[in-house]
Parts: sequence; structure tokens; C-alpha cells
Amino acid sequence: MSLETVPKDPNRNLRACLFCSLVKTFDQFELDGCDNCEEHLHMKNNRDAVYDCTSANFDGMVAMMSSEDSWVAKWQRIGRFVKGCYALSVTGRLPPGVVRELKRKGIMYRPRDVSQKLMT
Ligand SMILES: [Zn+2]
Repeated sequence: MSLETVPKDPNRNLRACLFCSLVKTFDQFELDGCDNCEEHLHMKNNRDAVYDCTSANFDGMVAMMSSEDSWVAKWQRIGRFVKGCYALSVTGRLPPGVVRELKRKGIMYRPRDVSQKLMT
């Protein structure tokens, strides 16, 4: 195992993508962007975008190893996404500018914030 692939403290600095709920460390998002949404969110080498498009406040984490027949993938609607760890609920929303940009490309943004339903 190389040092880069092992987070120093797995419980710290983890963030979840607000668009697809992929969980990685802040550094990984800054280094590689989101494996699923980089073409839309442009987080690579952009700390501000990582802060805006990911959230440190998320609940539950599931590992998706096989995207084809995983019930988790179907449940989370992430069947086409990369293998990895995904949060069940992510608190926060993408910035309005990013949502507008997605809309322009014909992509519907569904907030991953399950907890918000309880407040309305
Ligand atoms: Zn993403």
C-alpha cells in the first residue's frame, strides 16, 4: 500500500459529493475531482469548488463493489457510477450557479439531502 491511497485518519476530512454522494477525502477530490461528475463540477485543483460541491456533513456510508446487480446501486440510483463508497444522505445543496449549468445541459439535480424532508 502506498501512502497516498491510505488516508492518515479515515474519520477526518471525508467529504461526500453533493451530486452523486461519492465519499472521498478532501485531498482526493482536490487531486482527482469527482470520479462521476468531474466534467460537470470541475473540482480538480480547485479547492473552492470542492468546498462548494461536496459536504462534510453526511450520514451512512455504503461500499458499492458491483454496480450491475447491487441493490444499493438501484436504491441509490447510482447504477452507472464508479465503484466506491457512497453516502446515504448528504446535507447541503450544490450552488445555484452549478445547478443552472446542469439544467442547461439537461441534467436534473436531485438533492441528496434526505433529512430536509423532515423539516418541511
Ligand atoms: Zn460526484
